[in-house]
Amino acid sequence: MRAGPASPTVEVVFILFGFRTSHRRLGVRTMTCDVCGMTAAQGLVKRSTKFTLFFIPLFPVKRPTYLRECTHCGATRPLPEHQVTSLMA
Ligand SMILES: [Zn+2]
Repeated sequence: MRAGPASPTVEVVFILFGFRTSHRRLGVRTMTCDVCGMTAAQGLVKRSTKFTLFFIPLFPVKRPTYLRECTHCGATRPLPEHQVTSLMA
């Protein structure tokens, strides 16, 4: 009797990875909005993207960007990094 071919062993390993972008509010300043022209609270938001492994954020994959968010009209505009440090001082 002839032996059949050995059945192949299949091992499945899966790694769940991805990227997550988070927004963190650094503070609020009262300023005049460029869009609506109202003097209102402007939220300073830091947006950063991190590499995730099994949904756990591990390390940033690019430089953070900063946003200015008007609480009156809801408009969001990019904010240069040097302005963030002067506004947070
Ligand atoms: Zn506005």
